[in-house]
Amino acid sequence: MKTATGRQRPLDIAGAAATIVFMVRGAITLCWRGLLDLALPTVCAACGRRDERAGPLCPSCAAALLGQVDGRYCPRCGAGIGENLPVDEDGCFQCPTPVPRFQRVVRLTAYEPPLAEVIRGMKFRGVRHGCRWLGRLLADRVAATGELASVDAVQHVPLHWIRRLDRGFDQGRLLAAAIARRIGRPRLEALRRVRNTPPQVNLPRTRRLENVRGAFKPVGRDAEGLHVLLVDDVTTTGATADEATRALLAGGARRVSLAVVAKAEPPPRQT
Ligand SMILES: [Zn+2]
Ligand SMILES: [Zn+2]
Repeated sequence: MKTATGRQRPLDIAGAAATIVFMVRGAITLCWRGLLDLALPTVCAACGRRDERAGPLCPSCAAALLGQVDGRYCPRCGAGIGENLPVDEDGCFQCPTPVPRFQRVVRLTAYEPPLAEVIRGMKFRGVRHGCRWLGRLLADRVAATGELASVDAVQHVPLHWIRRLDRGFDQGRLLAAAIARRIGRPRLEALRRVRNTPPQVNLPRTRRLENVRGAFKPVGRDAEGLHVLLVDDVTTTGATADEATRALLAGGARRVSLAVVAKAEPPPRQT
């Protein structure tokens, strides 16, 4: 049948069918990953050895990770600081330019084994208990810095809904929930990712800033006047967290601090 919009109707039907297929696939992924999570809670996320205690890592990998956690990093960008160098509250020679809009970084450690395996596990194998475990560790680091005293609420760097559906969950939200519970602060849903940006891997910082520009929008006014603890799993150049911070400040937040599980080394050639 021919109508004024008749030419577009087959496309509309195809688009709706694709959306339904995509959503069904997402639901199946969600169930499958939940089952995997239940079925494999005793396999170490780093070395794959079976172990009977709860938690994502076997005792030796957990000990290795805890041995890497220290405070020798720049509080403005999260880069590691050598043993003999002072930790300066105002930043370090590795701090990016322009300086990110978040005021302070709290991290667990650098992005290296065994922590890297735990993070990959929670991203790609759906190891939710790994998120909760890391969230509690990170919450304790936040408390140890004294930053906690003025934090009012916790907000994660959200995935785009397409990525969340594909993965089956949002690891940042799980981390933020564990942190909020541990430190006794509310968790906000004050950010939305409005663009599904291509992965940042291997891009220099300037390209990363362009890549994520406008990727987040504030939602409501729940962040208004608050010191928000922004939570993400990994930061490299800080470009994504900086853009999320911009949106939070646009939504009325008073101050934003960043809590990340790991700080990855930026690509060797930054421009
Ligand atoms: Zn292990
Ligand atoms: Zn720095």
